[in-house]
Amino acid sequence: MAVLIKGATFASGKKCDVLIESNKIAKIAPSITARAEEKIDAHGKLLLPGFINTHTHTGMSILRGIGDDLQLHDWLWKKVRPAEQKICELDMHAASLLSCAEMVRSGTTCFNDMYFHMKGVAAAVKESGMRATLGYGMVDLGDEKKRKSELAIGEQFIKEFDGSANGRIKCSVAPHAPYTCSAELLRASAALAKKHKTRLHIHLSETRKEVFDMLKQTKMRPVDYLASLGVLSPNTIAAHCVWLTKQEVGTLAKHGTHVSYNPVSNMKLASGGAAPIPEMLEAGVNVTLGTDGVASNNSHSMFECMKIGALLQKQSRWDAQAVNAKQALQFATLNGARALGINAGEIKEGKLADIILLDMRAPNMQPVRSMESNVVYSAHAGNVTDAIIDGKLVMRNHKILTFDEEKAIDAVQKAADRITVT
Ligand SMILES: [Zn+2]
Repeated sequence: MAVLIKGATFASGKKCDVLIESNKIAKIAPSITARAEEKIDAHGKLLLPGFINTHTHTGMSILRGIGDDLQLHDWLWKKVRPAEQKICELDMHAASLLSCAEMVRSGTTCFNDMYFHMKGVAAAVKESGMRATLGYGMVDLGDEKKRKSELAIGEQFIKEFDGSANGRIKCSVAPHAPYTCSAELLRASAALAKKHKTRLHIHLSETRKEVFDMLKQTKMRPVDYLASLGVLSPNTIAAHCVWLTKQEVGTLAKHGTHVSYNPVSNMKLASGGAAPIPEMLEAGVNVTLGTDGVASNNSHSMFECMKIGALLQKQSRWDAQAVNAKQALQFATLNGARALGINAGEIKEGKLADIILLDMRAPNMQPVRSMESNVVYSAHAGNVTDAIIDGKLVMRNHKILTFDEEKAIDAVQKAADRITVT
């Protein structure tokens, strides 16, 4: 199938036509005349690569609002974990579909997910037309029997789903965090990722408590601990990385580990401080952006992440130049693609056709001096009009074409009424 986009404005300010053939950007030129099954008039619209959310738990949308205004420890153990016990695979599918709707509507075309009941998540990705890297979130808390069963579930998921949905789904190995996984599980995870040539997705140094506990237990800081177990590599995506020393930043850079910066979730859970993004950039770490799950954000908007992520750095450093609009947009697009190892994240011939259009005539998008500035500091989800993923139209003129959004909304509300914690 071919899609022809006419008269779109690029972030550079240039106007061009874009021809999509199969799932790739086939041609970019000032004027293209070609036969195409779908033609989109994009005059007055800004064309961007779709956003790539490098850390989330889409099934958590079912828990939206369940543990607001709590620190991470109480939020996780008193609210989230008890509620998670009541979630079944059908709930997970509905919740992930709801998240897909929210993500597409806010310009995200690809996401990196770890959670449980992942078959439900994979079904939602397949149905929605989105692109995703999915991993079964493993936790053993030092229990050997649990470790074996977690690894078996994680590997089975990879065997069944890696490369599925026409290649839109890739799988990862996802040990939850250094404080919920034993050293043996972390080592085995690294070996499993190597064996199946997948990414390894993990939470890292999210809170100060995690760092102090790790120092007490192992006499090492979390980054050094993971390095000693062989977990850090160019295939590793570490989410959060808030409480790092400069030396740890250097270790991440040395191993080529990608960082998913989650400013909104970190601020909501009061992680304190701010991830040392300027030091990461200086050391050459690939910085990307993630929303984290909706139970700690409480939205999937990458617009909010770009803006708040830039503002948090400026505010905490007393430096208005710490992370500018251009950098924030690159975190959300090209750097995300690099982290997940997908041929997307920029608008170039030969790249995967994961594209969004924004209404530039909206009052909050005018006047235009810098496209990047308007996208990062002024835009919101409501400005996204169209989304194309893997060459297929997933949203056209604000209408999602691939699945029944209303049905997902009703199913999630019904499940939410059942899933309560006191
Ligand atoms: Zn998370």
